[in-house]
This record gives sequence, C-alpha cells and structure tokens, in this order.
Amino acid sequence: MATNPYENLRTYSLVRPPELDGSRRRYPVVIVGAGPVGLTVAAGLGRYGVPAVVLQASGSVSFGSRAICISRRSLEIWERFGVAGRALAKGLAWTGGRSFWHCHQVLEFKMDESVARKHPPMINLQQCFMEQFLVDALGERDEVEIRWESAATGIDCLADAVRLTVETPAGAYQMEADYVVAADGARSFLRQALGLRMEGNSYEGRYLIADIKLPFMGPVERRAWFDPPSNPGSTVLAHWQPENILRIDYQLRPEETDEQELQESRVRARIDAHLEMLGAGTAYQLLWFSLYRAHCLTLSSYRHNRVFFVGDAAHLVPIFGVRGLNSGIEDAANLVWKLACAVRGQATDRLLDSYSEERVFAAQENIRQARKSTLFMTPPSHGYERMREAALSLAVSNEFARTLVNPRQTTAIAFPSSPLQSPDTEEWSGGIAPGATLPNLRFGDGYLLDFFGIDPVALIRAGSDAEACVAGSATQIQVISLTEQDPSPVLAALALDRPGSGYLIRPDGHVAARWRNFVPEKFASAFERSLGRGPIKGD
Ligand SMILES: Cc1cc2nc3c(=O)[nH]c(=O)nc-3n(C[C@H](O)[C@H](O)[C@H](O)COP(=O)(O)OP(=O)(O)OC[C@H]3O[C@@H](n4cnc5c(N)ncnc54)[C@H](O)[C@@H]3O)c2cc1C
Repeated sequence: MATNPYENLRTYSLVRPPELDGSRRRYPVVIVGAGPVGLTVAAGLGRYGVPAVVLQASGSVSFGSRAICISRRSLEIWERFGVAGRALAKGLAWTGGRSFWHCHQVLEFKMDESVARKHPPMINLQQCFMEQFLVDALGERDEVEIRWESAATGIDCLADAVRLTVETPAGAYQMEADYVVAADGARSFLRQALGLRMEGNSYEGRYLIADIKLPFMGPVERRAWFDPPSNPGSTVLAHWQPENILRIDYQLRPEETDEQELQESRVRARIDAHLEMLGAGTAYQLLWFSLYRAHCLTLSSYRHNRVFFVGDAAHLVPIFGVRGLNSGIEDAANLVWKLACAVRGQATDRLLDSYSEERVFAAQENIRQARKSTLFMTPPSHGYERMREAALSLAVSNEFARTLVNPRQTTAIAFPSSPLQSPDTEEWSGGIAPGATLPNLRFGDGYLLDFFGIDPVALIRAGSDAEACVAGSATQIQVISLTEQDPSPVLAALALDRPGSGYLIRPDGHVAARWRNFVPEKFASAFERSLGRGPIKGD
C-alpha cells in the first residue's frame, strides 16, 4: 500500500468493446466523461432503468482533492440516485466556520440549521474519493457501462442520432447514440468540436491548493485567514478532509510567478509558516498540490439538438462558496428525468429545452454570487483591496460589518420562472414557492424524500377527495398523503393549512405548483405543464 492514500485508488484497462470487432449498435445515451457529474448522470439514468455508456479518456478517477465540499442538496440527489452511502460514511460533516484578519477573529458563521434535516449542510470529501465511490456503486448496476481508456475524438450530429468517434489503445471505433451528455470537463472536447464558446470572465487572482497529511487537530469547519502573519498579503483557506488530510488554499501575490510557486520547496515553506502560526508541528506528508485560477464562464445554451452539456463542460464557477461541482450535480438531477422521458419517447422539445433554460439561469445566479466572493477572496485592484481591508477591520468589533465578510456558501437555486412551473394563483403565507426545492424534512419515521420514487409527487393534506382525484388523473404520479397526526413539521413548513391543499413536486425536487383549494382542472393543467406539455404559461 502506498503511503499516499490517493495512490491506492484503482486503475482500469480498456475492456474491448463490441464495436472494435465490427458490431454496430445504437445506444440510448452515451455520457462523455466519468468525472463526478458524468457519473451522477449515469447513476440517475440507471435509477430510471435507462442504459448508459460512459466514455472516460483515462484509466482511473482523478487525482487529489479538487472539489471537496458536497452540499446537502448534492447529497440528497446522490441519495435519490442510490449512490450516497459511501460518501456519507466517509465525508466529514460541517455546519459553519470562522474567518480571521491578521490575528483577530472577524466572523463565526453557521449555515441554516433552523429545521431538522436528514443531512448536514455540507460534508468534506476529496473529489477522487467521490469519483471512486460513484464508480464502485455503478459497478453494481447492469444499466451502466463505463468504458475506460476511451476518449471521444469526433462528433457528428445526424438528423436523428449522434455519432461519436472513440479512440482507445486497441484502435478507434464509432458508435451512435440517441442522446449524448457532454460531461467532459472544463476543456470539453465536445464543446470545441461543436464550435461553442463560453462567455464571461476569468480572474487574475491565483490560488495554490495543497493536500497535506498530519495528525488531526480539528475542528471540522471552514477557516479563512486574511493577511495572516504567516502569509502577509495573502488569503489562506483550510478544510479538514477524511484520512487526516488538511486542504490548504493560499492566494498568490501578483509578483509571484506560477513557475516559482509550483516548486515543492516553495509550497512547503508557505505551508510550514502557516502551521507554525497555528502552533502545529511541521511534520506532514505533502500529498498533492495544484494551481487554481477563478473563472466565471458559461455557455449560453446547454442543449445542442441531441447533445446536452453538464458540469464544467457547460459552466465554470469560482470555487469560493463551493458552487462548481455542486452546480454540476444539480445539472445532473435536472437533466436525468427529462432525458429518461426522451428515451421513452415521451419528452417534448419544451421539456428538453427547459433543462438548458433552467440550468443556464442557475449558472448565471451562481456566477453572480460567486463573483462577489471572488472579488473578496482575490481583490482584482488596489481599490478592491482597500475596500476589503475596511470591511475586515470593521468586522473585528462591529456585528453589522460581519455580513460583508460572510463567505456565502452555495444553496439550491430556485427558478423564479420556468416553462414547467405554474405560478401561485392564491394568497400564501409561507411554504415553498414554485421553482424552489423541497426541503428534506422529518416525516413519519424518516425524512420526506425517503418516501419519493422516480415519478412526480403530489403531496396532499388529507381530509378531502383531492388525493383520490389526483391518483385517478394521471398514470405517472405518486401521491403522498399528509395527515394532521403526522408527528412532523411538514404541514407547517409547507403552509398546508386546509384539507386538500398540496404541492406538485417534480422528480428533481423542484416545486412545480401548489394549491390551497384543490381544483381538478387546474391540477391537471399544472401537471401537464410540469412535463412540458399543454398550453404554456400565459396561454
Ligand atoms: C485544481 C483544481 C481544484 C479545484 N478545486 C475545487 C474546489 O475546491 N471546489 C469546487 O467546487 N471545485 C473545484 N474544482 C472544480 C471541480 O473539480 C469541477 O467543478 C468538477 O470536477 C466538475 O466535474 P465534471 O464532472 O463536470 O468535470 P471533470 O471532473 O473535469 O470530469 C471530466 C471528465 O471527462 C474526462 N474527459 C475529458 N475529455 C474527454 C473525452 N474527450 N473523452 C472521454 N473523457 C473525457 C476527463 O478525463 C474527466 O475525467 C477544482 C478544479 C481543479 C482543476
């Protein structure tokens, strides 16, 4: 066993595919890229019984921590796709953090814990472990085939299919698919091959990120130091990860070159200084380091006929606030049920287009939030630096200034309008608005989402004929009845104040519609709309 735990992850060789021996088959879905997002799409499709082939250029999962913070929403998505178990068992849960300026603590924050939820707001787990757990879980699914050492090197969009050229160590072949998911990361070959460009900006600020193994000296929380004595003029972030590995990210100053700062002796000197400041010993194992530069970039559309872009292939969001990978996992949740409908021949163009519409909106919102964090973490000019200095110095002793230095962690993005949702037509006080995601509240002897299958769900307060009417109105809907006796906060949290009131929830957990007074015709049209059928809003 290598002492570097990242070196103990498995490697895989090409298993000779039938196409290399002349077989011609048409596949429902081919996913290009077995990163965390492509693997999540595969897991989701598997949950719907849709066969998927995943092409992966290399023969292993990625190396090093990369994205480490998995949000509650991502955990809920993985759980619904049946692949959360090992991540939950290994990940380190955390609920808040602290920030320091010079030697002063300027912020202690907690993420929302007001209502009991099944999962913590965040867990820390290295991306390479996440990917390995996903690969292992998919190995048990007959519907998913991962083709290692198989790089997509050509794409042709045909009238009713997509043809991919795949290069392997045993030669090249072509395969056809009804749909292709482009999950091939930041440098996406498919994006370039289709002549698509991302729009937005990149930032000058750079971070050196490193994983070191040393005796645990918790707590598990997000810590940030601005202009600390250990690294004057820089910002340092630290997170504990499983296996006693500390992730340290430190900002490089403009005069420091990549070449110089990527030398191991230099990395060690910066880390030593920080550990000394914390009063920790400097005996550690340096496992991995890399350079990171923030980008705020997105494609303007994530659907190109039969090709759907997800994750970093579609958008690049700065790491501050942990929206990068988590937004990719939300892309997967949004796409999977729509693609499953398409494979069954039940999807309208409006349903498929809604994937792009909703997720481009989410990327723009993530970029808007992350941009604020990035300007704070890597001030692009002297002016921004002075402003940050002022906010930090005020935050030492003024509560009001602490909101200015809050790191704004990711939350699930609500859609204010979507072609699939029906706006409120009654007065509501509280509850969850259409477009937002349903919280996983305590319910029965478990949590609400534990009771959900793969179809849309009608959550209805018992005591009227609404449940029977909904159950009889559509073939693919699950009805969950909520009684007053349920010892759970669900009725109050959803503001279901009368018998028959309820919610229509999409398979990805977003609220499609809600009603206080059940009207069968209105429900039927909201249901149709949620599947991209029937008249659109305003018709
Ligand atoms: C150094 C570094 C540090 C980071 N730190 C953070 C962080 O702290 N927090 C955070 O949220 N995010 C971070 N990120 C970003 C995070 O890693 C990405 O958001 C995440 O990996 C996106 O997942 P993905 O599946 O979309 O793409 P990727 O993880 O990039 O996966 C794409 C996969 O496709 C494969 N592939 C590429 N081309 C082809 C092809 N032609 N054919 C077949 N396979 C192909 C690649 O080998 C890869 O396995 C970091 C990224 C880097 C590089």
